[in-house]
Amino acid sequence: MNILATIPFPLQVATVLFLGLMYGSFANVCIHRLPKKESVVSPRSHCPSCNTQIAAWDNIPVFSYLLLKGKCRQCATSISIIYPIIEAVTALLILAGFIKFGVSWKFVIFCFVGPALVIITAIDIEHKVIPDIITLPGTIFGLVAGSYLVGFKDSAFGLFVGGGTFLLISEIYYRIRGNVGMGGGDIKFIAAAGALLGWQQVFLIIFLSAFMGSVVGVAGLAKKRLSALSQIPFGPFLAGGTLVAYFSGERLIHMYIMSVTGGY
Ligand SMILES: [Zn+2]
Repeated sequence: MNILATIPFPLQVATVLFLGLMYGSFANVCIHRLPKKESVVSPRSHCPSCNTQIAAWDNIPVFSYLLLKGKCRQCATSISIIYPIIEAVTALLILAGFIKFGVSWKFVIFCFVGPALVIITAIDIEHKVIPDIITLPGTIFGLVAGSYLVGFKDSAFGLFVGGGTFLLISEIYYRIRGNVGMGGGDIKFIAAAGALLGWQQVFLIIFLSAFMGSVVGVAGLAKKRLSALSQIPFGPFLAGGTLVAYFSGERLIHMYIMSVTGGY
């Protein structure tokens, strides 16, 4: 008998949200420590201003920020609103995954993939880099999880097609422009995403991220907020494309095939 069916749905949602907030809290630790190559396990969190160790009851995701009105209890220095936003976004992503996939391996895999996408987005926006410490284990994870999701052959093919396509684009760009347009982190990311979702969906991710990137890029250039497209980190768009593909990739590809073949 399915134990889950005996638990009322609101309680299921509350449990998943709680789990998501915990992941979000850990995501914050990763976002701030991975670029500095610090351990994400120890030491406990400190206030970046007065260095006081943050007590457990002041470290509750989102709620502590609200209770403390966004200030450190000791030194009253403002805490960045990015922290509770990261926690809330992660929790909502996990909840969306639960509602979409139910209790399944696809949901379990998403509990790793979702927070990783949040971490990559935040780090790439701030530091313009996607750390190897996420993408390299991510490639192994992608192959293992991808073997379950799409089969080992499609997964391995996705790794090489994704990584190879970006390597080629990066090489062509370098030959034409003489500078590096696409970072190594982007190449490793798309290889990992290709391994996770297979070669068919890696093209969908590339298409979606290039589309979103060019919309934002053109808007930014038009408002003169950006002087060159190369200033925009590509990681957030890759993460967005991967997210869309993870949730709806099969349906989007099916719709595309239908529209090309006219349903035959
Ligand atoms: Zn402080």
